[in-house]
Amino acid sequence: MPILRIALDLPLFTLFDYTVADDVPVVVGQRVIVPFGKRQLLGVVWERGAESSLAAGRIKPVTAVLDDVPPLPAELLNLLRFCSDYYHFPLGQTVLAALPARLRSGQAVVQKTAVFYGLTPLGAGLNLAEFPARKMVQRRILARLATGGAEWSALKKLSATAGGQLKALEKLGYVTRVAGCTPLPPSPACGGGEQNTAHSFASAHALNAEQQTAVDAVLACPRYGCFLLHGITGSGKTEVYMHLMQAALRRGVQVLLLVPEINLTPQLEQYFRRRFAEVELVSLHSGLAEGARAQNWLHAQSGAARIVLGTRLAVFAPLPQLGLILVDEEHDGSFKQQDGLRYSARDVAIFRANWRGIPIVLGSATPSLESWQHASTGRYHLLSLTQRAVAHARLPNIGCIPLNQTPLYEGLSPLLIAALEQRLQRGEQSLLFLNRRGYAPVLMCTECSWVSGCPHCAGKLVLHQKDRRLRCHHCGQQQRVPLVCPSCQHPELRPIGIGTQRLEATLQARFPTARILRVDRDSTRNQGTWHAMRQQIEQGEVDILLGTQMLAKGHDFPNVTLVGVLNPDGGLYSADFRASEKLFAQLAQVAGRAGRADKAGEVLIQTAFPDHPLFRALCAHDYVAWTKVLLAERAQAGFPPFVHQVLLRAEGLQESAVYEFMHAARTAARGLNMSVEVYGVIPAALPKRANHFMAQLLVQCPSRKPLQDFIRAWKPQLDTLPSKGLRYALDIDPLGF
Ligand SMILES: [Zn+2]
Ligand SMILES: [Zn+2]
Repeated sequence: MPILRIALDLPLFTLFDYTVADDVPVVVGQRVIVPFGKRQLLGVVWERGAESSLAAGRIKPVTAVLDDVPPLPAELLNLLRFCSDYYHFPLGQTVLAALPARLRSGQAVVQKTAVFYGLTPLGAGLNLAEFPARKMVQRRILARLATGGAEWSALKKLSATAGGQLKALEKLGYVTRVAGCTPLPPSPACGGGEQNTAHSFASAHALNAEQQTAVDAVLACPRYGCFLLHGITGSGKTEVYMHLMQAALRRGVQVLLLVPEINLTPQLEQYFRRRFAEVELVSLHSGLAEGARAQNWLHAQSGAARIVLGTRLAVFAPLPQLGLILVDEEHDGSFKQQDGLRYSARDVAIFRANWRGIPIVLGSATPSLESWQHASTGRYHLLSLTQRAVAHARLPNIGCIPLNQTPLYEGLSPLLIAALEQRLQRGEQSLLFLNRRGYAPVLMCTECSWVSGCPHCAGKLVLHQKDRRLRCHHCGQQQRVPLVCPSCQHPELRPIGIGTQRLEATLQARFPTARILRVDRDSTRNQGTWHAMRQQIEQGEVDILLGTQMLAKGHDFPNVTLVGVLNPDGGLYSADFRASEKLFAQLAQVAGRAGRADKAGEVLIQTAFPDHPLFRALCAHDYVAWTKVLLAERAQAGFPPFVHQVLLRAEGLQESAVYEFMHAARTAARGLNMSVEVYGVIPAALPKRANHFMAQLLVQCPSRKPLQDFIRAWKPQLDTLPSKGLRYALDIDPLGF
């Protein structure tokens, strides 16, 4: 009997042997149900063999072989094998984590393949008036298809015998199946019979010279090539993607477009659908219902979907004809998964493109330092867009308001207040950016300096004024605001610092007639709220909008002519060496919201450090100058991109146990005597969260290979250390500390 080696969703670095009867057809990549202890688990056939190292009597037979969906293709299995090796995460867990939840369950998947029909050129040439009248159903079908392609579900409503008659028409060569015709919106092109070659590419925009150069460079690349598309906000990166996608579709290949989580909105999806109305586009993201996600995945696998638009998890979509990968906002932190398989979708995409021998384009206005460094050493090809694509559009004026020379009114400087007033008078919109939600970050006693700390975390309880509650933004703990100080019973408790709710109240008091809208996670909690808010903003029903980073990303507000930035200084001198890189990207993005249409924009940043190189570069719109500063800093400190890192994270309820484990891990690392740099054990940035103590240990090395060798030697030692009640994980190429 053949032996099947199965990948199972278990935290073990091994495959599991099962037998299967000789006459059961089963192939690698197929899903199976197997007994494991008292449970039945779903697994994926990884290998077939004739022998097992287990004694014959101990090998159990598989319970069931699932054939409801096609087996996972070899390319995907290879990609998952690579991820398991590189991120040192168990193979079975890697494989199962990549699958949509519905395929992970044993529940059979009913494939809803929308089958479309259209007229062939022969059918289109028929004169219906001359078509035999007695063939009524055939006539009806032909008449229907003459108005455009139709799904089988629509045709079968024409008659009870539609199925048979349709087959007859197919045989006669009048009608043909049309693969990958998008169900939305009905398009006349579906009737032509040439759907897969004729992309009308709705409302194609002409490219400027820089955009054309970028498109030409990628199109001239017949094999793997990684392109870094560096374009300032508004320079038309999307248009470059569009033209590349169009060219790829013409060549008959599939396209994968990855976007950050927060950017993938139904609007973006609709936008791409409209531009590529003739082909099937599916989206893949965690917000989809289980069934829809499984269907979209299967459409990608069958080749019916020509474009896959998705967030990081879409990098694992099976795409048999994949010919182009685009990663928009490649610097965005959401491409990195922060638990389980801690992969970077951007990095996995690059590996995938390389392995397949196809071009990949990473786009950003503020590329990550890693990508920028690769572009400057020639590993990636740099493509620059330096002009705003919209005619007449100018870059906003960015200036700093030095905080140490100005009195503040509830966090607002007179200059910013005056600028807001001016916009109100002109009937233009303003945007205030404050990346801190709640009313005030902490409540303090004026008498004894008691502060509202979270009982379960190292963080503070944030004051939410509206419902008079204190909330922990880390663990969700909440309580009523105390009437007196819990420590000294003094009646005066003062909110310290400013959150978006407090700013909203301040603005309302200062500008009583202005229409003010706050956008943060609290105000957009209900589904659809953010969508409704965007419409309000677009229709000019808002004068001042204020909010957190939700406002910074991916949304165009053409009437905003003033952007004010409050309190950005925390990112300048953070313990996380990437904080200032992230801050620059964020501020450049939020500044890009100002003056996108025909109106010039102004950006005012309130800071205590107006001479900091970050602000100087930002005001000069000089990303390149900023990267020089950052790269020099990183080179001197010996940080990425000049080294590669692995971070061991551990957490547990008992502080001493966490640190004992970490110190033992460090001793083991040093004992290996390999050419890596082992740092000391330190508390995590938030040392305690939801009663769990968290510590970390960093190991780094100038090149990847010795670091990987080290991890391979170190990991088995970690697994033998006493770790009862602890959770630990290796984070390869960590982004947050
Ligand atoms: Zn007190
Ligand atoms: Zn907490």
